[in-house]
This record gives sequence, structure tokens and C-alpha cells, in this order.
Amino acid sequence: MRIDLLTLFPAMLEGPLGESIPGRIREQGLAEIRVHDLREWGLGRHRSVDDAPYGGGAGMVMRPEPVAAALDALRGPGSTAILLDPAGEVFRQARAVELAQREHLILVCPRYEGVDDRIRGLVDLELSIGDYVLTGGELPALVVVDAVIRLLPGAIDAASTAEESFADGLLEYPQYTRPAEFRGEAVPGVLVSGHHEAVRRWRLEASLRRTLERRPDLLTGRPPNPEERRILDALETERDAEGQAERDPEPGGRT
Ligand code: SAM
Repeated sequence: MRIDLLTLFPAMLEGPLGESIPGRIREQGLAEIRVHDLREWGLGRHRSVDDAPYGGGAGMVMRPEPVAAALDALRGPGSTAILLDPAGEVFRQARAVELAQREHLILVCPRYEGVDDRIRGLVDLELSIGDYVLTGGELPALVVVDAVIRLLPGAIDAASTAEESFADGLLEYPQYTRPAEFRGEAVPGVLVSGHHEAVRRWRLEASLRRTLERRPDLLTGRPPNPEERRILDALETERDAEGQAERDPEPGGRT
């Protein structure tokens, strides 16, 4: 996979993309990542890239010509150009999985008040990383690139990406390591039992429980398989019983 990033602040991208797993992925040649300074395509002697907004208002807007020229220079038949923008599609794991299949991504990282709206017509996809506003598209681009390249075959242990949060639409089960007891809290016994099937069942239930408690929205529109259905029914019965106990405490329990 090749990835080109267009930015006015290359150092914001080069640092994180040279470290840890992204750095190793690049070294191994699994992803060829190039960071370009948009000023290379800037206008005039000063390589200008921004101007005041038509209609007035605060801040500056990035001019369309430098971004368009950069896209023209970098785009090939297999390219997908992506604009980072708060009005874009909210970036999710399913999109990361899909982008990991593509051969060439170009990510445009605007600054200031954003880029001239006519650039939207020149990209294939607009992505937002959430409902908040950052100072520029660099951090969102790093989020997208990191999420995508770790899915490339050979990047990390395939079992890690198959079993983690969102991979099958659920949050991941709780993870533990040594010590077996920490500040009075012991690791669930089943995890040290050596019984693989029991561990699998415990993890599935823990994953469903956590998703039900913290992100029930993930379960909507995701039909559970028969085993998951049984566990979810049991969890719901348990919750109903707890709710009932809270509404209707035992007489002896009253103070
Ligand atoms: N005026 C824009 C608005 O109200 O939507 C915000 C501009 S923001 C200060 C500058 C740039 O940061 C945006 O054009 C976009 O590239 C990037 N950005 C900020 N928040 C983002 C988010 N949540 N997701 C993706 N990109 C974001």
C-alpha cells in the first residue's frame, strides 16, 4: 500500500509515523508512506496556500488550487483521495478494514477554517474522527493511517486484529496479565484454568456484557448468533432481576 499525506506541517506527521508499530510497518515495506508539504504547490513567490473567506468572517481558508494541483500530481488509477473534515463520515473500524484493501490513499489535511468547499468535489471520501473540532487535519489523518496500516497483512499478529474491539461488532473482553492478584482483586479463575473452551465462553460473555453495558448501540442491527442470543437473554434476565431488586428491596434491608 502507498499512502501520501498532504499537509502544511510535515513534522506533525513524520514523528508519529516513524515510531513504534507504524515505523516498523514502514521499515518492513508493508506501507510506503510519503509526507508532502502542501507549500510545494503554493502560489507565487511566497508559496501562498490560504486567503480570506468570501463573505467575511474569522480566520483564513485554504485556497483550492494548491490542493487540486497536489491531487493531480499524486493521483493514479488506483488512488482514493480522502479529505479530513468534521462534516465527513464518522470514521469506524469497518471503514478502516475497507481502506486497508485499497492500493493507494491520499489524505488531505487542511488547517485554518478548512479548505475551499470546491475541493469536496475532487476527493473520493470525507472522514471525520468524531464530533469535536481540532486545529488541523494532521491528527485525524494519523488516526486513519494508524488504524488502516495495522490491518495490513503481516503488520501485527493476525489474532490480535481478529479478536479486538469492533472487529466483530463488539467491545473486547477484559484483558489481564500478572500478578494474579492486584490490590485485593483477583484475575477471574477461568482464565488460569487452562480450559480453552471455558475461556472462550467466558470471553464471549464478558464481551457481550461490556457491549451491552457501555455501547448498546453496537448491538442494534447486528443479529447475534444462537450462542450470543442465549447469553444476551441471560444477561437481560440478570439485569431485570437487579432492577427489580433495586426497586423492591427486602424489608430487612431497609434502614
Ligand atoms: N471551520 C471548520 C468547521 O467548523 O467545520 C473547522 C475547521 S478546523 C479548525 C481545521 C481542520 O481541522 C478541518 O478543516 C479538518 O481538516 C480538521 N479537523 C478538525 N476537526 C476534525 C475532525 N473531528 N475530524 C476530521 N478532521 C478534523
